[in-house]
Amino acid sequence: PLDAAARIANLFGAGRQPQVVHAVDDVSLTISRGEVVGLVGESGCGKSTLGRMAVGLHTLSDGRREWKGQDLATLTVATRRRMQLGMQMIFQDPYASLNPRLRVRDIVGEAPVAHGMTSAAEQDALVESLLQKVGLDPAVARRFPHQFSGGQRARIGIARALAVNPELLVCDEAVAALDVSIQAQVLNLFMRLREELSLTYLFISHDLGVVRHIADRVVIMYLGRIVESAPTDVLFAQANHPYTTALLASAPKLEAKKVSFYAVQGEIPSPLHPPSGCHFHPRCPHAMPRCREEVPQLKEVAPQHFSACHLNDMP
Ligand code: SF4
Ligand code: MG
Repeated sequence: PLDAAARIANLFGAGRQPQVVHAVDDVSLTISRGEVVGLVGESGCGKSTLGRMAVGLHTLSDGRREWKGQDLATLTVATRRRMQLGMQMIFQDPYASLNPRLRVRDIVGEAPVAHGMTSAAEQDALVESLLQKVGLDPAVARRFPHQFSGGQRARIGIARALAVNPELLVCDEAVAALDVSIQAQVLNLFMRLREELSLTYLFISHDLGVVRHIADRVVIMYLGRIVESAPTDVLFAQANHPYTTALLASAPKLEAKKVSFYAVQGEIPSPLHPPSGCHFHPRCPHAMPRCREEVPQLKEVAPQHFSACHLNDMP
């Protein structure tokens, strides 16, 4: 049993009005305490939506969220709010997510005071220790966001998230806007914080290089569905799903700065009208007639390695 688990199941049911985008469709994701899960896919595949659902920023039209084995929907609003502090989101764009009119002191210290986790008198000391934790000079507490570089702003965003003692951090393209050298520094900070604070991460990224660097397990999404999930080493050495294989092939140098997905053959179909059966079939070099009709289910193809492809049923 997973002691700390954020579980999301069957998020969007099938058969709704045609204009409803099933950004995430019949997905189940469990994260164990201390784990770093990398969630990868092209833009529009639903990975951000899934991350926002995980922390409660997006309502589920159908499905369930569990935290440490408890169904969050069964709790009182107050209890749920308190529990949700344990899951914090770190956003892609630190520029957009930091209020330009607030000093760092208030950006970082506001939530713990508002939630009664610290007193106003102790706010400055708390903020100083948080800034130190993320590698910033505590003296910057008096400054405003525009006075910082992108990397520093990312650190401020991390300090803000840490202020309420989270156990799970959902990072959505958290380093995507940064220069490569700064990216590496911030990734190393995430890794250090993982050790120091026993954090668990859901690390959402379109960048396979970033995910390979940071994740214990990689989950690949395509048009709202999880198509493959495996320990990081296994995924990079023995990918099973043709989509994952195409992604890896499109990124010949994974250590290189930017890994792009555009080399995967064909365009991403509209999430509004996803292809029938296996959503990947119009782009898949191995597609069979069955692939147009039947949705492949995730199956365990090796220990801890799951893939949703009809090829796995072939003798
Ligand atoms: Fe390709 Fe069919 Fe497998 Fe989908 S199910 S990835 S179309 S072979
Ligand atoms: Mg996104």
